[in-house]
Amino acid sequence: MKLPEDLNGLKALIVPGGESTTMEILIDRYRLRQPLIDFAARHPIYGTCAGMILFSSNVDDNQACVRPLNLIDIDVARIAYGRQVYSFDRQLELTLNGGVHGVSVSFIRAPRVTRVGPEVAVLASLDASPVLVERGNVLAASFHTELNDDTVLLNYFLRKIRA
Ligand code: GLN
Repeated sequence: MKLPEDLNGLKALIVPGGESTTMEILIDRYRLRQPLIDFAARHPIYGTCAGMILFSSNVDDNQACVRPLNLIDIDVARIAYGRQVYSFDRQLELTLNGGVHGVSVSFIRAPRVTRVGPEVAVLASLDASPVLVERGNVLAASFHTELNDDTVLLNYFLRKIRA
């Protein structure tokens, strides 16, 4: 989707990884900021990596001046797990619907969550840092899951859509 009207009729939205600075410029160029905020108030929305940065309420040490959408009460530090060459895969335990699921995920220039608001649930952590968080409709992950075949998190999000 690219334009505000493209949100019409959607049941949910995934905001993928990429480059949050560029995505933010395009969000404002296409006047998507308020439509996305309104959409997230009524529909499930899931942000991965750059998507998580855009969903946050605050970006630490924000030299790139990213203005996040404030969809979930977390602070993030961009590229805090290292640059592209330091990308890594990790086995994580996700707590979803009361069960614990092991999945292999990829961290690629990933954001670190540096603060979690009191109403935000932490569904997975890496070395004591939250990496998967949720509040109501909004789900946000520091990592990518689309690079392996494990669909457990996608299925969790699909269940949120059906609920
Ligand atoms: N480093 C990117 C950013 O700050 C996010 C990386 C990713 O989405 N894999 O926008």
